Amino acid sequence: MIEIDNVSKWYGAARVLDGCSTRVARGEVVVVCGPSGSGKSTLIKTVNGLEPFQEGAIRVDGVSVGAPQTDLPALRARIGMVFQNFELFPHLSVRDNLTLAQVKVRKRGRAEASAKGLHYLERVGLLAHQDKFPHQLSGGQQQRVAIARALAMDPVAMLFDEPTSALDPEMVGEVLEVMGGLAQDGMTMMVVTHEMGFARRVADRVVFMDGGRIVEEGAAAAFFDAPASSRAREFLARIV
Ligand code: ADP
Ligand code: MG
Repeated sequence: MIEIDNVSKWYGAARVLDGCSTRVARGEVVVVCGPSGSGKSTLIKTVNGLEPFQEGAIRVDGVSVGAPQTDLPALRARIGMVFQNFELFPHLSVRDNLTLAQVKVRKRGRAEASAKGLHYLERVGLLAHQDKFPHQLSGGQQQRVAIARALAMDPVAMLFDEPTSALDPEMVGEVLEVMGGLAQDGMTMMVVTHEMGFARRVADRVVFMDGGRIVEEGAAAAFFDAPASSRAREFLARIV
C-alpha cells in the first residue's frame, strides 16, 4: 500500500532523510521510532505529499506521490493523517469538524457526510459530544475526534505522528485503544510513536530511524527483545 524507495530530502544543505526505503503492506501496521530529530515526522509527511523530497520515489496504492502528473490533493484526501496536536477546527462543532472535508473535498451531500461523520464518532465513543466545540473536550477526546474525522474520508491508509505525545498520561490509553481497534479491522497504518507497549501489541513491524536513516527494521518482538544495532539498543535503554 505504501512503497518508499530510496528517499532523500534536504533542507538547504542539511540532509534530513538519507536513502530511506520501506514498505507497508495492505492491512499492515508499522511503528516508526527513533530519537528526536531523526526524521520520523519528515518521513511520514513525505508519504502524503506534505513535504517534498528530492530523491527517490513514494507510491501509495500505486500512485506516485512525487510525480508531476499526480493530483496531490486527490491523493492526500485518501490518506488519513493524525498529528500530535489534533488540529481540529476550533470554531466548528465536532459534527462540523467531521463533515467539512467530506463536503468540500469529497463533494458529498450534507446528509451523507453527516451520517458518515456520526458513524465514526460513535465508533470512537463520542456520539454524545457531537454538538460540542473542541475546547469543551479533553485532549484524548479531541484526538479521538481527529481520528474519526480522518476515517470519514475513507482513507486507504492512516498516518499518525506522535498521536499521544501531547496528552496527559491518563488519556493515552483511550486513544491507543481506538488505534488498536483500527488495526484489528485491517487498516493500513504508519505510526510514529514512543508508546512501546502499543508497538509490541499492535505493530507488525518496527522501523527505527536515526540521523535521517532507517537504521533497522524488523518484527516488533524481535526489535524489542534483541535490537540489532547499538543505536537502537541505546535508544530503547533511554525510553523504556
Ligand atoms: P523527528 O520527527 O524524528 O523528531 P523531524 O522529521 O521533525 O524529526 O526532523 C528531522 C530533521 O529535520 C531535524 O534535524 C530538524 O531540525 C530538521 N527540520 C525539520 N523541519 C525543518 C524545516 N522546516 N526546516 C529546516 N530543518 C527542518
Ligand atoms: Mg517528529
